[in-house]
Amino acid sequence: MEFRYLGNSGLKISAITYGNWLTHGSQVENEVAHACVRAALEHGISTFDTADVYANTKAETVLGEALRGERREDLEIFTKVYWPTGPKGKNDTGLSRKHIMESIDGSLRRLQTDYVDLYQAHRYDTETPLEETMQAFADIVRQGKALYIGVSEWTADQLREGHRLSRELGFQLISSQPQYSMLWRVIEAEVVPACEELGISQIVWSPLAQGVLSGKYLPGQAPEPGSRAADEQMGKGMAGFLREEVLTAVQQLRPLADQAGLTMPQLALAWVLQNPNVASALVGASRPEQVQDNVKAAGVRLEPDLLAAIDDVLGEVVERDPGKTAERAPQTRVV
Ligand code: NDP
Repeated sequence: MEFRYLGNSGLKISAITYGNWLTHGSQVENEVAHACVRAALEHGISTFDTADVYANTKAETVLGEALRGERREDLEIFTKVYWPTGPKGKNDTGLSRKHIMESIDGSLRRLQTDYVDLYQAHRYDTETPLEETMQAFADIVRQGKALYIGVSEWTADQLREGHRLSRELGFQLISSQPQYSMLWRVIEAEVVPACEELGISQIVWSPLAQGVLSGKYLPGQAPEPGSRAADEQMGKGMAGFLREEVLTAVQQLRPLADQAGLTMPQLALAWVLQNPNVASALVGASRPEQVQDNVKAAGVRLEPDLLAAIDDVLGEVVERDPGKTAERAPQTRVV
């Protein structure tokens, strides 16, 4: 495993992070969830990402159970706050002081730990003054409940303002968690340059475009049973990646992966890790074999001519519009 510093901090994390969105507490049985975590640990993954909202808090419980007994110092555990949880009452959401303070305690209890290494704002809250949010994060860091603070899907301007306040309040905002893959490159124009300037790393989600870049979804064919796209609920967010022209272009990556001696998932993961602002690729898995395949992307260097060939093959199906970060962000809280 390769380890990288997270932002301008002394914290090292594994270049592949194991994430449990849609899997733990929902898609897979606990036994499979535990086997995936075990495979991750055996292959050198030390960084684990979850969120209170995943499976309405159940994902944190499953991860906490799966990691029980591991030496805490060997792990980096990340979670998040923002989306509504529990009975979804009026204050069970957002980045108010009340919701942050209550949420961190719930997450620590479910994860069976005294602190998380990284506590992340899962989205930007347009309804809470940013000063209030950042003060709450500063207090959580002082209480020792989180060691560092990160955010997810914030725009470059929001990152700048959050970073400025964190400096004033004496804590470190060190990470940004956006979607990033060969097919979704919207952070390259604005978010990445801002973060390079501020000393913030990216921890990128859906680097396999939810499995599409593994090449297992074939144009003109129904998704294989048991895969994410085959499930009506889970597949909802994948429609853009399951278009014929995208699936056709993705199949053309196969000879490039073969030439490089990599599997398709390894090529996709190694690709995001070529960006020096990316500290880690956040990978989900519904089976331990997927983890075993994916971890081998760590430490792989892709030659410039291969990167150029990937750009050629994918051409117009790549989304690059930096406006998508703001466009996809919630404009108001959902409850
Ligand atoms: P990926 O793009 O890595 O997709 C993972 C899914 O792809 C797996 O669950 C599996 O689905 C399939 N897959 C994985 N490996 C392979 C393989 N080797 N061969 C074939 N199929 C494979 O990432 P996710 O979309 O799961 O996101 C990863 C993590 O990112 C999450 O767990 C979470 O921690 C984080 N995240 C953060 C968000 C945010 O807003 N901050 C949003 C979304 C995710 P299957 O087998 O079911 O087809």
